[in-house]
Amino acid sequence: MESSVEKAGDRAIARKSPRAPGQVLECGWCGGPVIVQVRGRMPKWCSSTCRTRASERRRAAADGLAAVKVVERDIERIKTVTVVQHHTRQVEVEAVPWPSATSDWVTAIRGLTQRVETGRVYDRDLESLAGAVNDLVGALVRRGQHR
Ligand SMILES: [Zn+2]
Repeated sequence: MESSVEKAGDRAIARKSPRAPGQVLECGWCGGPVIVQVRGRMPKWCSSTCRTRASERRRAAADGLAAVKVVERDIERIKTVTVVQHHTRQVEVEAVPWPSATSDWVTAIRGLTQRVETGRVYDRDLESLAGAVNDLVGALVRRGQHR
């Protein structure tokens, strides 16, 4: 067993370049087989689903995957009246600088509340907005408990 693993490792290094058509690589996400084509880029993923998952994971890691950051992003989308539910359905986004001071966040959240109250947020966005706000409230409650 052990020797076959070592062999596989040696072969992988030896094959780094040039490419061997028909060579099978491992999908970087699910580990499934990815067949190398004769030309084009070296494939990393077996499917667009795996590529998307991997890039979402990378982005989340870059953001520190903080719950509050997710909430912030939702608030920014809503402030600029873009669609929250699907990443693929983004509408034109005006360049709104992110609040840095907490007082600016308070202003932004109050402005969002005003938008909800005056019907300036689409009905279809209310559910995802509620989810994001619940996350924020949950985070605040947890912080309060730890104090
Ligand atoms: Zn895959």
